[in-house]
Amino acid sequence: MEELLEELLEECRPYTQQGNVATYIPELAKGDPNDLGIYVLRSDGRHYQAGDYKKCFTIQSVVKPILLLLALLDNGEEYVRARVGVEATGKPFDAINVTDQTLLSEHLNPMVNMGAIAMCTLIKGSDYNERFQRLLELTRTLAGNPNIGINEDVFLSEKRTGNKNRALAFLLKNYNIIQDDVEDVLDCYFKACSISVNSKDLANIGFTLASRGKHPQTDERLYPSQYAHYVNAILTTCGMYDGSGEFAVNVGVPAKSGVGGGIMAVVPTRMGIGIFSPGLDAKGNSLAGIQVLQRLAKRMYLSIF
Ligand code: GLN
Repeated sequence: MEELLEELLEECRPYTQQGNVATYIPELAKGDPNDLGIYVLRSDGRHYQAGDYKKCFTIQSVVKPILLLLALLDNGEEYVRARVGVEATGKPFDAINVTDQTLLSEHLNPMVNMGAIAMCTLIKGSDYNERFQRLLELTRTLAGNPNIGINEDVFLSEKRTGNKNRALAFLLKNYNIIQDDVEDVLDCYFKACSISVNSKDLANIGFTLASRGKHPQTDERLYPSQYAHYVNAILTTCGMYDGSGEFAVNVGVPAKSGVGGGIMAVVPTRMGIGIFSPGLDAKGNSLAGIQVLQRLAKRMYLSIF
C-alpha cells in the first residue's frame, strides 16, 4: 500500500504545476506548489503515508464539516436544518445571492461560505472567542492531535482582505438569518479557516466520519452515527462545490476541499484520507489532490456508487 501511494504521487507530481496557489488571501500565495502529500488511515488501524504528509497548511473550507458537526452536537438536527439547508448549490464556494428573491435559510448549504458563516452563529458559547475555542477543541479531538492551533498570519491576512465574505455576512444579516455583530461572526469564521493541520490530521478527522462517529484510535464514540450520515451526504453533494458532480463520478466518495490545498476524503466503513497539494483548479479544489484520489479510487475500488 505504501508503494502504491508513492507510485501515485510520482505519477501525479506533474499536475502540481498545473494548478494555481490561492492568492486572493495574500498569505496563501506563499504556499509551495511543489508540495504533495497523502495519509491514509484504514479501519484496521493501519496507516500509510507518502510525500509531504507532515507539512502544515491552513484547513480553510475543510473546517466546514467540523463546524456542521459542532452545530449538530450543540443544537440537534432539526434546529440546524431549519437554519442552514442541505440542497447542493452547484455554485462556487463564495457565490453571492443577489437576486431580488428573499434569501431563505433553505437556500444555504453548510459547505459553502454563506452557510458556514451562518453556522458560526449556531455554535454555543458566551462570546465568539469561546465559540471558536470550542470548535478548535473539537478539531483537536477528532484529529487526535492536541497541538493543533491557528496560523495567525493567515487569519489576519483574510480578516484584512475578506470583503466578499463580509458582503455575504451582511446579506445574511439583512435577511435576519444572523443577528450578531458581523465582525464578531467573521472573526470566528476566519479563525476557523486558519486552523493549521497536516494530511494526517485530515485523515484522522475523515476516519471519524467513515466510522460513523468513532475515534480512530480508541473506538470511543465522539458523535452520534446519524450526524456522520448527515455530514457525509452533504459532502457527497456539495463538498467539492460546483465540482461535486464530476468528483462523484470520477472518485465517488464524500470529500471536502479547502483553498489551502487540503482534501479530506471519507470512504465509509473503510478509511479516512488526507491529501495536500496547494495548486488549485479553477473551482478552488486541489488539482493534483483530485488526480491522486481519482487513481486511488480506481485501484482500490473506493467509489460508494
Ligand atoms: N477562507 C476561505 C474563504 O472564505 C475558505 C474558502 C475555501 O476553502 N474554499 O474564502
